Amino acid sequence: MTTSHTVNVLLDGTLLTLNRAVGVLRRRNVAVERLTVHACPDGASRLTCTLTADAATVDRVVQQFRKMVGVRAVEAIPTDLNNGPTNGGADMSSSQVRVFYDADADQARLKGRIIAVIGYGSQGHAHALNLRESGARVIVGLRESGKSWLRAKDEGLDVRSVADAARAADIIMMLVPDQEARTVYEASVAPGLRAGQTLLFAHGFNVHFKEIVPPADVDVAMIAPKSPGHLVRSEFQAGRGVPGLVAVHQDASGQALANALAYAAGIGCTRAGVLETTFREETETDLFGEQAVLCGGVSALVQAGFETLTAAGYAPEIAYFECLHELKLIVDLMYRGGMKFMRYSISDTAEYGDYTRGPRIVSDQVKGEMQQLLKEIQDGTFAREWIAETRGGARRFAEYRRAAADHPIERVGATLRAMMPWTEEGKAAKERKPATKQSARAGANAG
Ligand code: NAP
Ligand code: MG
Repeated sequence: MTTSHTVNVLLDGTLLTLNRAVGVLRRRNVAVERLTVHACPDGASRLTCTLTADAATVDRVVQQFRKMVGVRAVEAIPTDLNNGPTNGGADMSSSQVRVFYDADADQARLKGRIIAVIGYGSQGHAHALNLRESGARVIVGLRESGKSWLRAKDEGLDVRSVADAARAADIIMMLVPDQEARTVYEASVAPGLRAGQTLLFAHGFNVHFKEIVPPADVDVAMIAPKSPGHLVRSEFQAGRGVPGLVAVHQDASGQALANALAYAAGIGCTRAGVLETTFREETETDLFGEQAVLCGGVSALVQAGFETLTAAGYAPEIAYFECLHELKLIVDLMYRGGMKFMRYSISDTAEYGDYTRGPRIVSDQVKGEMQQLLKEIQDGTFAREWIAETRGGARRFAEYRRAAADHPIERVGATLRAMMPWTEEGKAAKERKPATKQSARAGANAG
């Protein structure tokens, strides 16, 4: 049977080897749907081709690649044309995305270099501590009036003003909230920037939408861990790492990618794998994901489900459990093993409802709206709106927050979560209880 296969061949970087590899395909006369060649940082190159042939022919091609001088590794993965690789898509090397691991990064590049980590919040504290433990010299840049200053000092870190930290550094990582970044950059980073420095970001927003336009003689790159800071830290401490993204916006030195990968290694990301992307792709997909699915989509879905049940007269407590609380169980299953694993674990009734009713909720109209959101992200409409909102004092934003906090799902949720010791309200309730006992005792003593 003729099927589609993705074949990855890791070659030494010479043109001669590449020529021979293409020769193998030509001699075998197989149908090549796609062929790409990527340069790897260590001088090797990766040839990826999609072949339409029967399994035996693909196997013969693979064997011939293996026998070739200059070929370091070969793998063939059957590709389901509609759904990507049939191995569940776990092997990223089967797509066109380059993935970098420890072996692709030269951590020695961090030696003798000073890294300024600007901001010490979710990401900042994890980057600063991981880099220090990786042997890099780290300075944390902060405002003296802020809460983070003492926290970073308590860790024994070298803490300075943003301007002093940035000036002293070879690599400057911007880890303040995205809506603050431009102000911090203009006031305290840009004035001291000099040729040869590297400016790093963990999200592409400000560079992609030109809120920050660095001078042409500095390198500009992105290392974006795909997880919150506490996981960047705890995985590193456990000897592992979280996956990340890397992108180069401006390569003044010719070393931007290598330096960014060294930084990624320093925070542990290359232990898990760092996927290559661009500032544009990262920014647009990140905004789309949070608007359409993760934050906007999910909260609206949960809230609408809750409203539908309570409006029909069902108890808000039961509606809360069905529409919000149990979401975690489902998401945990998806996270562990994808949709298939989740569907394997739920009841057949739930699974049947999933297939037949899900598409009625996320209808063509909803998908059309998703495309519209994506357009507004791509053409900058959303970015302009959000920037104007934060510049104008974020009053509408505060109003949305107030209204959301007032929704019945939040009120009933807080009461229910007080029954669950592992939740925020549950923890607070537990802390309040002994305090009440103590004050009762104190009262008795006083009496
Ligand atoms: P965050 O926790 O909100 O950062 C807060 C830190 O920034 C605090 O140390 C704060 O210090 C400092 N800061 C705020 N305004 C400042 C100012 N004007 N001058 C100096 N320092 C200031 O931010 P984050 O969530 O780590 O995000 C940082 C970057 O990482 C963003 O680009 C974000 O998109 C990206 N990212 C975040 C995540 C995530 O899960 N959080 C994941 C991937 C990428 P004070 O104590 O003085 O206020
Ligand atoms: Mg995100």
